[in-house]
Amino acid sequence: MGKAQILIIGGSAAGAAAAAKCSRLYPEAQIKLVENGDYVAFGACELPFYLSGRISSIDELQVFTPEKLADKKKIDVFTRTRLLEIDKRKQECHILLADGTEVHWAYDKLILATGSNARSILQPAIRASNLFALKNLADGQAIMRSLRQHTSAKIVILGAGYIALEIATALLPRVAAMALFNRSDLPLPGFANPARRMVLESIQAEDKITYHSYSELEDFSMRDGRLTAIKLDGIWQTADIFIEALGVIPNSAVAGAAGLRINADATIACNRSMQSSNANIFAAGDVTHGWHRLSRRPFYFPLASTARKMGRVAAANLFYARENLPESLGTTALRFLNLEIARTGYNAEQAKTLCNNLREQQLQTTDIASLMPEKQPLYWYLVMQRHPQRLLGATLAGSIGAAARINVLALAISEKIDLGQLRRTDFLYAPEYSPLIDGFELIDADK
Ligand SMILES: Cc1cc2nc3c(=O)[nH]c(=O)nc-3n(C[C@H](O)[C@H](O)[C@H](O)COP(=O)(O)OP(=O)(O)OC[C@H]3O[C@@H](n4cnc5c(N)ncnc54)[C@H](O)[C@@H]3O)c2cc1C
Repeated sequence: MGKAQILIIGGSAAGAAAAAKCSRLYPEAQIKLVENGDYVAFGACELPFYLSGRISSIDELQVFTPEKLADKKKIDVFTRTRLLEIDKRKQECHILLADGTEVHWAYDKLILATGSNARSILQPAIRASNLFALKNLADGQAIMRSLRQHTSAKIVILGAGYIALEIATALLPRVAAMALFNRSDLPLPGFANPARRMVLESIQAEDKITYHSYSELEDFSMRDGRLTAIKLDGIWQTADIFIEALGVIPNSAVAGAAGLRINADATIACNRSMQSSNANIFAAGDVTHGWHRLSRRPFYFPLASTARKMGRVAAANLFYARENLPESLGTTALRFLNLEIARTGYNAEQAKTLCNNLREQQLQTTDIASLMPEKQPLYWYLVMQRHPQRLLGATLAGSIGAAARINVLALAISEKIDLGQLRRTDFLYAPEYSPLIDGFELIDADK
């Protein structure tokens, strides 16, 4: 291969994975990685552990510094550098460099890994020094600085999805009071309702946290550049720190302006090679969609696990179609205080869109042998198809260590394993790790 020009925009999970794969596959190519922020190849998923203090320095969240990525992978890395525009016809990108100069860089192949932006109901109207999202390392540092200014902060978190709950778990020991505001009566949308109720009960058992469902943000008040209170459904809520954790929106505006096909959910439309509607432009990560293993249709999975795979697949397919993106199940886990919750596949509501011979099963086992003094309950919520007998979705909730079992269930769904076969599997028994009869052996669409 000659000196092909590969340009990758976005240096987080998808962009960094794409860049690393390109450097292996195309050692002769010139590879440029463009990142708007200061960091590349960083761990966004680990940010809650930085907030809790378990990870002590932001530097520990960088898998590669820009210099190390450039040195080890032979990639030209440009931080504080932004893609402004794409000219598809000329195969050229209009770029704003860190020193303020604007350049036009030609590309043979372009990978858009511009990720997502934090969804916000306050930020469009308000610029406040104590209003945050948690999306990247700069956000994490800003929240930390604000926490250091308040020894006994009162904090409001808007949202109650998995990231909101991870933030709540991280910050609870550091704050005096915490209020979670969510649009629904139960936290953790998308998870099975019984697990959501368990999370709510855990919240209610904590003196320092309150949970509120609301329908409308009505007003806010500011003083000296700081947000002092927000009014939700007629009630004013004051706080020292406000964090929005309301999910993400694909960051596809530049791609859309260039005339690439954009889906209704704002993702860049791609085929299974991660190729966009333009043959020389690929997309990867939160800015695009994956495919659901069960429906086999496009589905939005804003997860690092999927973003990394997409980056690698996009890189592999730049010059020849070699690989299809594997389908995903949206397997996710989190810890909320001392409760671990994990899910994979469909919840009951989603499963109804797939078939109608459904069966839901709820099980309670112990997490380790029932004779062990430290055993804890483990709850299983399963959605199955009766004919053929297959698992479509699962949620697990229990104490520390419960979440890891979800991978077996993800495999069973992904490989369409017959439930009888699953029950006959030779599962581990060791008192410290499992009960004599583990939940896997009890999953049954006929009971
Ligand atoms: C707190 C938290 C916890 C999480 N936990 C998990 C977890 O446990 N498991 C999991 O799988 N996922 C988790 N995620 C989700 C995961 O982090 C994202 O799915 C992943 O970061 C997506 O990677 P990405 O590269 O597609 O996009 P992003 O991380 O959004 O990065 C996109 C990058 O592109 C850059 N960029 C955007 N536009 C431009 C432009 N015009 N020019 C130049 N650069 C640009 C941005 O600066 C950014 O760095 C978590 C996320 C957060 C915030």
